[in-house]
Amino acid sequence: MIRLERDLAAKYGDALRPRISRGLHQLMEYWRTQDGDAATFEQFVTANFAGDQATLDTLFDRYQHLLEQLQGHMHEIQREFRQQADLDLGPMLPLDEVFAGYDPSAHVLDDFFDNKLAFVVLLNFPLTTLQQRLAEGPRWSRRQWAEARLAQLFDKRIPGEVNLAISQAIAQADHYIAEYNIWMYHVLDADGQRLFPPKLRLLSHWNLRDEIKADYADQKSGPAKQRVIQQVMERIVTQTIPQIVINNPQVDWNPFTNEVTPAAKKDSEAGSAARADNAREPSTRYAMLLKTYQAARKADPYSPTAPSLIARRFDEDREIPEARVKGMLEQVVSSPLVSVVAKLIQARLGRPLEPFDVWYDGFRPRSAHTEAELDALVAKRYPDSQAYQKDIPNLLMRLGFSPDRARFLADHIVVDPARGSGHAMGAEMRAEKAHLRTRVEKSGMNYKGFNIAVHEMGHNVEQTFSLNNVDSTLLKGVPNTAFTEALAFMFQGHDLELLGLGAPDAKSEAMKTLNDFWATYEISGVALVDMAVWHWMYDHPDATPDQLRDATLQIAKELWNRYYAPIFGKKDVVLLGVYSHMIDSFLYLPDYPIGHMIAHQIEEQMKKAGAIGPEFERMATMGRVTPDLWMENASGKPVGPDALLSATERALNIIQH
Ligand SMILES: [Zn+2]
Repeated sequence: MIRLERDLAAKYGDALRPRISRGLHQLMEYWRTQDGDAATFEQFVTANFAGDQATLDTLFDRYQHLLEQLQGHMHEIQREFRQQADLDLGPMLPLDEVFAGYDPSAHVLDDFFDNKLAFVVLLNFPLTTLQQRLAEGPRWSRRQWAEARLAQLFDKRIPGEVNLAISQAIAQADHYIAEYNIWMYHVLDADGQRLFPPKLRLLSHWNLRDEIKADYADQKSGPAKQRVIQQVMERIVTQTIPQIVINNPQVDWNPFTNEVTPAAKKDSEAGSAARADNAREPSTRYAMLLKTYQAARKADPYSPTAPSLIARRFDEDREIPEARVKGMLEQVVSSPLVSVVAKLIQARLGRPLEPFDVWYDGFRPRSAHTEAELDALVAKRYPDSQAYQKDIPNLLMRLGFSPDRARFLADHIVVDPARGSGHAMGAEMRAEKAHLRTRVEKSGMNYKGFNIAVHEMGHNVEQTFSLNNVDSTLLKGVPNTAFTEALAFMFQGHDLELLGLGAPDAKSEAMKTLNDFWATYEISGVALVDMAVWHWMYDHPDATPDQLRDATLQIAKELWNRYYAPIFGKKDVVLLGVYSHMIDSFLYLPDYPIGHMIAHQIEEQMKKAGAIGPEFERMATMGRVTPDLWMENASGKPVGPDALLSATERALNIIQH
């Protein structure tokens, strides 16, 4: 090694010594016995080290171009393979599902290590840590940023069996979550009464939470239903839920006494159970979570720049240090605005708050138009997906894009009829177009479909600018999904104006802001639990499911007692631990509150700028740098909750006066 470094320095000049040394060290970190002996290593280095700027530039250009082709065409294949599944093209055959699930690029990374194309990159371009990207990134040239992103493509060499273990853990946890239904007709209230209609089957936690939200509209038995669901959720988190009641309409269950009996009434083919006991679910929830942790940990030794799942999530996926994210979340949950908004909710409900009110859903703007009016208007304008396609330039001009920008964007977006509710599929190379998948009924598009189409069009516009107008395809995209969502919601929020109707009034906007604030307060606590639980697992690698359950309960209660109990007047509530993402999504939950914060920062900046069009383009052509750098460029400030909090303060002034 030392000799090799000396020889190269002698050949190319001593000034290159730092780059030579860095390249050799990076190479050694990933080189394995199977890649060749010392002589092969030396030969490889001698042949592939770019010893002058012209060679390095050629290398960079070649990778930039060919990786764009690789990613672009792989994506094109996947889009074609998914066509039958994604589009409204008639029945699916079993083979269509296999095509849809096939990923032609699954082995690309392994191939690039096997044929050593990855090693050429590691020998010549710098691997960086998040700390470096944050500290030095603001002074980097665009080329330096592109080089950093190029090297990052090869910063992990995870063996196939580890990836397999991870995907098996995901599949198992997903399956557990997907089957976790509660048959509500069979869940009784504290007095043994049935409050819910037959056949209502709610998937934990999403449907349970959404039922709590929907029950605010039920003046009569809403609160009673909400109390039952809260009790069900607590049984799930504490794992005192009887195993037999999960996804089973054959038994009745009183979640307050925890008594289980054969179903006295029937709402399914299944009939009634012959016998029923209330043996608890044996901490399966936490066993699943532990398995995802154990699988994720297997990748740690192969990820030297981010050697834990926690580091990979924060340093690589989010690129915001964990400590800062924690600080941002704590700033929201401890904000003095919480108690002000809570008092407002209490006044609107006419009763003291209860823990389930963490999902309060009553800040709904009143609409000046009925859904039926809007449906008729939209159906007339868009009888089919081609009508929407034709209207894209017009819609974009209404959003403030110049006629030539609107034309350019429209030329890069293909509208397809979606099988589901709709989605946006960007391109991965400049020769390809973005696809807008939208749902059109036989009777024409309805308002809901239009609202979604406008959101997806926001994604497509972001995708088009951030692929075609960014100066390097290695920097294509935005820092993370929260950014593309924020930009898409920006479009969606203007859907009524696009229909030629008035913009929402100040009061409606204020209601929307309060809704965002309360949702961020709730999900920030959930995210803090998720983060603390992953730390606990890393600190206790040999924990049993019961120990993980106890630790999770303690973490959830402590957070509740600190930030929520003063608001809700009740201690030791475990509701913050109910999210299913906690079990199968590998520390994903912090993305939600960060997303709300980013959305408000972008919205504030758009308001300052006036027209959306030019500002959207300016933001979206920055490319995939760190979130803070992107946001500094977009709004003059790093990512944080200040925009959300000040919007909440303004909203409170509007609502209260
Ligand atoms: Zn979206």
